Amino acid sequence: MSAGSGTISSFASRLRYDSGYAERCLRALDEALDSAKAYGAWRAFDPGQSRGVFSRLAALPALTKADLRAHGPQGFVPGGRDLDAGLAAREIELVETSGSTGDRVVNVWYQPWWDSSEAASWRLNSHARAAGVGDHSEAILTSPWCTGFPCEDEYLAVHQRTLGRFLYLSERSDPSTWSGELMDRMVAELDAFKPVILEANPSFLATLSRHVVKRALRVHSPAVIILTYENPSVLHQRQIRRAFDSPVASSYGATETAYVFMECEAGRLHQVTESCHVDFLPFAPEHGGPDVGRILVTTFDNPWRSLVRFDVGDVVRLNGPAPCPCGRDEGLTLASVEGRSIGITLTPEGRAVTQGAVDRVLGAVEGLVEYQILQTDPEAFHLLFVADDAASIAVAGAARKALRELYGTAAVIATERVEAILPDPPGKYKLAKMYEPVDLDALLDERYAPKRK
Ligand SMILES: [Zn+2]
Repeated sequence: MSAGSGTISSFASRLRYDSGYAERCLRALDEALDSAKAYGAWRAFDPGQSRGVFSRLAALPALTKADLRAHGPQGFVPGGRDLDAGLAAREIELVETSGSTGDRVVNVWYQPWWDSSEAASWRLNSHARAAGVGDHSEAILTSPWCTGFPCEDEYLAVHQRTLGRFLYLSERSDPSTWSGELMDRMVAELDAFKPVILEANPSFLATLSRHVVKRALRVHSPAVIILTYENPSVLHQRQIRRAFDSPVASSYGATETAYVFMECEAGRLHQVTESCHVDFLPFAPEHGGPDVGRILVTTFDNPWRSLVRFDVGDVVRLNGPAPCPCGRDEGLTLASVEGRSIGITLTPEGRAVTQGAVDRVLGAVEGLVEYQILQTDPEAFHLLFVADDAASIAVAGAARKALRELYGTAAVIATERVEAILPDPPGKYKLAKMYEPVDLDALLDERYAPKRK
C-alpha cells in the first residue's frame, strides 16, 4: 500500500454546514484513525492535522463491505471498548444484514444511536416532524425477513405480528403471491390500528395500493407514509398516492450507516447532518456528472462503531444550485437517489445510465404498472413489464421507444409481458440488473476519485 501523490478535491468544502459540523467530522475521523484497528493502514494516507478535515477525508480510500468482513465487528470498535463486554451487558447486539450471500456483513447494533439518527432524520420533513413524537403507533409493510415476523406457509394472527407500538402487516415476503384476502386483511388492520406512521417498501405498498384502487376500497391514511428499504420507482409512488391521501416521504439509509438522507415536504432529500457526513464523488460529464455521483458515508458518535467513508453502494443526483423551497440548506441536497451502483447499465457506447434515468423515462409510459430492465450484453436489453389488461401492446411499443431514446439507436431492446416482477431474496424489488458489475471508479471525475488501496 502506498499513499500516492497529488491532491484530491473535496466536494464537501463547497457546502454549508452548522457551526459544530466540522468538529463532529474531525472527532469521527480522529477516533477511527487513532483507535479502531481496521484503520491502521489508512494512517499513511492521512495528510495530517495541518489540513482541513474535508481534505483529510478526501485523501482516504473508500471503505467497502469486503473491509467490514475482513476486519470483523471488533476491528471498527473505537476508544478501547470491548465488544464482548458490550454484548454481555446487552448494550449492543450483533446483526447480520440479509443481503446476498457474498454481501453479508455482521453489524454491531446500538439502539440509542440508531434512534437518535432516526429522530434527526424526521426533523427534515415537516409532516414526519409533526407526527413522529417517539411513541406514535407505526405500521410496517416490508419483507418480514428484513424486519418483522416471517411465515411463508401459514398466516399469523395480529397479536403475533405486533411488537409494542409496531404492527407488521405482512408475514409473507413476495407481494406477487399475496392473495386478495391477505390484502383485505392489511386494509382492515390499517383501519383498526390507525397508525400515525406507515413505513413501507415502495413495491410492497404499491401492490397493496393497486388492490385498494382496483376494489374501490377506502383505507385509513396515516399522518405520513415513509418509503424505505428499496429505491422507489415513480410508478410505485404514483400508485401509492392513488390509494392514500397521506404525504409520502422517502427515507434513505442503511443498516451500517443509520439514516443518511430524508425527503422534505418539497420533494428533495436532505442530508442528516446531525448523524453523518457524506462525501459526494461526481461522475465524469460523459457519465452524468457533475450532478450524478456516488456517496461515501462517515458516521458520527456511535461509541461501538467507527465508519469512515463507507461505500453504501448507491448513486445520487444533486438538486443543483437553486435552494430547496423548504428552506433547509445544510449539507448535500439531492434531487433523487438514483439507485444501486450494481443497477447501473451502460449504453452500447459505454455511457452510464442510472436506475433513476431508466425510471424517469419508463415512468411516463401510460398503462405501465411495474418493470425490470435487464442488460444482457453491451447492446442487448430485456424489459420485463406488467401492464394494465387492455394496454399490453401499446405499453410494449411505448416502453421500447422510451428506452431507445435513452440508450441510443444501437441498443437492441426486447420486451416481455409478465404477470408480476418477483423480488430478489430477502424481499427487495430490483428496477435494473446488469450482466456484469460496472467499474464505478472508471466512471468518476478523476479529481474526486479516492485512492486505490
Ligand atoms: Zn427541502
